[in-house]
Amino acid sequence: MPEVILVVEDEVSLQETLAYNLKKQGYIVHTAATGGQALKSAREIKPDLILLDIMLPEMDGFEVCRTLRQEMNTPILMLTARDDEIDRVVGLEVGADDYLTKPFSMRELLARVKAMLRRVRLINEDAAARSAQDSVLTGSTMIFGNLEINPVRREMLLDGKPLAVKPKEYELLNYLSIHRGKVLTRETILEKVWGWDFIGDSRTVDVHIRWLREKIEIDPAIPIRIVTVRGAGYRFEG
Ligand code: CA
Repeated sequence: MPEVILVVEDEVSLQETLAYNLKKQGYIVHTAATGGQALKSAREIKPDLILLDIMLPEMDGFEVCRTLRQEMNTPILMLTARDDEIDRVVGLEVGADDYLTKPFSMRELLARVKAMLRRVRLINEDAAARSAQDSVLTGSTMIFGNLEINPVRREMLLDGKPLAVKPKEYELLNYLSIHRGKVLTRETILEKVWGWDFIGDSRTVDVHIRWLREKIEIDPAIPIRIVTVRGAGYRFEG
């Protein structure tokens, strides 16, 4: 997915040059020429990065930056023209992530943008990896009444006692329980639990559902945990 950049600059020629060069790098570019427009666009499009000029009509870049900082942590690269502006930006009083002083070369700007986006990507990947690891470590056991599903041990307990289930039964119940309350078609279940390369038909799903019901339902003939939704598929009630 191409990254989205919001360019906030009131000088038409500079705004156009920036937009042109960023688009050439494959980014999706939105533009704004006033502080008000900048806030509106940032809230609407939620860009991956904001290039923010300081001298703007209506509301200056400092105020825009301060306001946005309270709402989102999108990286902001400020474009400054004067020394006294630099002092304020560097003082991090407004919460910008980086700055460039005008005039700057396009090459320098593109390098800076790339580096900032890369940094954000790494932080996000890191956070995602960590949270995935955390959920594995803590186990995030799912409990539905007397039924427990433990994804770490790939184990199911009924009334505290382990149930003897085949790997596919485990995967099926795990998948159903993650989507608790949602109607799942046989095709979806087949695709998600058995995978694209599975050769067979949706009766496979029915058979496994029946086996699971025999294990977890009080009366498998009148299932209340895994219910059949006529003409649609199955729904896990918990
Ligand atoms: Ca300006």
